Amino acid sequence: MTEDTNKEIDETFARYQDELWNAMEDETIQLALSRAVESFRRNKDEALKLYPQVKEKAKELRKVKEYSLLHIDELAKQVKDRVEDLKGQCLIAKEPKDALKYISEIVKEKDIIVKSKSLTCEELHLNDYLEKLGCEVYETDLGEFIIQHLKSRPMHILSPAIHVPKEKVAELFSSIMGKSVPPDIGVLVKEARIFLRDAFFKANVGISGANAIAAETGTIFLIENEGNARLVTGLPRKHIAVAGLEKIVPTLQDGMLVVEVASRYANYKAPSYVSLISSPSKTGDIEKQTTYGAHGPEELHVILLDNNRTEMIKDSTYRQALYCLRCGACLYECSIYPLTAGYYGHLYMGGIGAILTAFLLGGLKNAAPIAYTCTLCGRCKEVCPMEIDVPEMILKLRETLAKEGYVPQQIREIAKTIINERSLK
Ligand code: SF4
Repeated sequence: MTEDTNKEIDETFARYQDELWNAMEDETIQLALSRAVESFRRNKDEALKLYPQVKEKAKELRKVKEYSLLHIDELAKQVKDRVEDLKGQCLIAKEPKDALKYISEIVKEKDIIVKSKSLTCEELHLNDYLEKLGCEVYETDLGEFIIQHLKSRPMHILSPAIHVPKEKVAELFSSIMGKSVPPDIGVLVKEARIFLRDAFFKANVGISGANAIAAETGTIFLIENEGNARLVTGLPRKHIAVAGLEKIVPTLQDGMLVVEVASRYANYKAPSYVSLISSPSKTGDIEKQTTYGAHGPEELHVILLDNNRTEMIKDSTYRQALYCLRCGACLYECSIYPLTAGYYGHLYMGGIGAILTAFLLGGLKNAAPIAYTCTLCGRCKEVCPMEIDVPEMILKLRETLAKEGYVPQQIREIAKTIINERSLK
């Protein structure tokens, strides 16, 4: 390592440590997080008590995920064939730039674009890219809408605005909407609904993620509660779905397994909506002639993003990170996250976030501070429906970080002292 690289790494660690301390001293973050952890635990316990069979289903799903990742090339090809057979378009994008190039051919300058929550889109830095193309982008998930306007970053993989208490949301909405909005959650939700209606109806393009994709039919599964994903994928003329390769499972039944397990571990007894989308809208009502482009979108584009996932699959330790359902259960039980929110992370957060950051979004430099913050307590593994062994992955990642020189100064100094003491014996 050169002195310059060491300096750069030390600066990254120092900045990160400052952010952690600031978050721990921020009363609004502590207030919002303590409320969220309490509600999450209560709701999740109720959901698992009402549906105890979900624990067995989670074990079954882990096997499905293992199989799917080991057969990912053939399953991705199957998705592409099925989607195209039903008049959609499908791209298997090796890198983010391939996905962005494809999207740039679908959207036009001045397009109004509505989006539902998708962490995979963050890997593409999609909003910035679309805005540079001259498009108007609206995040429609309430949490994403809040952070888009706060110009903040997601602080939880499922609830991006978890660190913002209602009082701060009220201040924000009052300034966006040009009137006084009280810190009453019911009122805040209603105001967001009124504000976004117009965008939904004017939008030409809707962009979503996917919670699962069934290879046998090319069907996209979207789990949600707000109803915004239905509008995003149902109202505009074009629908683009962006999903990581790991979302593919073999069958429709496997997709339903994802729905059951992910939603219950995400603290819901049942999600308000599950959408299954297999093609652009169509009708056969006149002479049984299938005609595409009825009331819903006329075009469906499915982008399956690799972005290092096939490399992760080759490694049996890191492969586990791709079983992640993004349910968020591990974050609430983590020994660090409830004190710091997403500052313990980059865009993916917590222990699992260190691995996803290293491979998918941010690289080793941004993953290193997260990996060295992890206490290896293992509580995440205990609550994870996929039994992902995060401490095992973190230890392996630390080995790589050490080899590449991404080690915090304090640890370098401790190592030096130990080596010196040993050499004196
Ligand atoms: S690591 Fe496990 S608990 Fe954490 S978000 Fe992923 S599936 Fe959920």
